[in-house]
Amino acid sequence: MLAYKVDQSLRRIYQASRDCSFVIVLIAGGLWSGCDLVGGAFNYKPKDLQENLSAEARALMEQAFKGIDTSVRRDYHTHILGMNTDLNGTFVNEGWQSPWSGLLHYIQFEVYKSSAAITDVEQADAQYLARLKDLIQHMPHAGKFGIMAFDYFHNEQGQPDLLLTTFHVPNDYVMKIVQENPDVFFPIISIHPYRTDATTVLKQYAEQGVRFVKWLPNAMGIHPASETMKDKLEAYYEIMHEYDMVLISHTGDEKATEAEEFQNLGNPLFLRKALDRGVKVVMAHLASLGECTEEDASICPPGTPYIDVAIHMLKEPQYQQLLFADISALTQDNRKDNLNKVLANTAIHSQLINGSDYPLPAVNIVIQTRTLESSGYITAQERTALNEIYDYNPLLFDFVLKRTLRHTETGMKFPHSVFVEHSLLPTD
Ligand SMILES: [Zn+2]
Repeated sequence: MLAYKVDQSLRRIYQASRDCSFVIVLIAGGLWSGCDLVGGAFNYKPKDLQENLSAEARALMEQAFKGIDTSVRRDYHTHILGMNTDLNGTFVNEGWQSPWSGLLHYIQFEVYKSSAAITDVEQADAQYLARLKDLIQHMPHAGKFGIMAFDYFHNEQGQPDLLLTTFHVPNDYVMKIVQENPDVFFPIISIHPYRTDATTVLKQYAEQGVRFVKWLPNAMGIHPASETMKDKLEAYYEIMHEYDMVLISHTGDEKATEAEEFQNLGNPLFLRKALDRGVKVVMAHLASLGECTEEDASICPPGTPYIDVAIHMLKEPQYQQLLFADISALTQDNRKDNLNKVLANTAIHSQLINGSDYPLPAVNIVIQTRTLESSGYITAQERTALNEIYDYNPLLFDFVLKRTLRHTETGMKFPHSVFVEHSLLPTD
């Protein structure tokens, strides 16, 4: 009975958390034992979903897989995180691990840990991976997930800067996970183009058949069109083009950036340099946060939303076979108002691919089914069913949500093609 009561009051706070503003809840939640409320707050195990799901939630889930060739279902944006440096070389900035060096970062990190079901920092890497595999294994028709390495911030001299690095995931760690789980994962490596060994390492992976490379310019300090680093960048793009590699680059603002001065590096226009060398590019998150700043006045009018710039680029005839965008994070509360615009722009739909941005869908405060309902993207019944799925499997929730939501006026949905392997972006 006591356990039931505690559970009920936890549930009430959890429900309330979906009604408060992000920051207040983040802070209040952070101070609440281990951030479970704004972090994970999963009530059930993924393995119990099939047995226990209500008829309504099951129907919504089955509907989501209808019309999808599940053998080629793909998620092009899944993060690997870790902090067991001695074991795997993974790294999280100290400033994120201690409340004394920055409360907000600390809380954010506690939330991430909770969402990824990490309970023991000594076992963080293993727990993160075990949870991810558990979620995938218990999804009906999981398909394959692209898991991302994450390079250090580097300065223009090609030296890593640990103080400016938020987190690091080595390529070899990602490759090892893929080799051990080839049916579940494909590799997305990360090599900073300013590194002194950048092209050598890039070529080594290219020759091993690795096709995808991840950059997060704002967090890593990469200017994709830098004049001073032109020679390094051109040599890098040359190899990518030669091996038909795909650059998955974060576009738009980024919350996990250490230094605000690097924020405008997410301007999608800087990716023209790679595209014009014939490199395939995926604009992660479709530049759905931020706008052109005074700094970029020479290339785009200040105040122009980055997403408008990105949509315009996708429509340019010379980029039809080269430029793509992933829809990861578009359902997040601070980005969801863009969904109507993306759904209405049917001309770009064939260039969209799916990505979960896991573990973000597992941070329950980030995706608010309440506001998705009040905005008209989902119905009240769908919201109830989706919340039920979330409690078992946030990764499945992310997929079912993206398959369910519709344009608030026209009812237009994302086409099936978004959720399977793109013929121009093969993963094997
Ligand atoms: Zn991401």
